[in-house]
Amino acid sequence: MKLSLSHFFDLDVTVCLAVLLLSWLIFLRTRRRSQMDARRFFICGYCQSAFPERVPYQRPRCPRCGAIYEGEKE
Ligand SMILES: [Zn+2]
Repeated sequence: MKLSLSHFFDLDVTVCLAVLLLSWLIFLRTRRRSQMDARRFFICGYCQSAFPERVPYQRPRCPRCGAIYEGEKE
């Protein structure tokens, strides 16, 4: 069996589509993650302003008064 030019073209298109699909999936995953991060909000205990969590797994700092969020009191 001899590979013709059209076979190479088919392979090229398939690889292109695969790369495109992969980058699209990665883009969707990144966007969903950033949306989830943005959904997490904190309310500052000092100035009562709500702010989203920017860096996960770290104590968020209030962008308005600079106070570190201490966590919800029960
Ligand atoms: Zn504050």
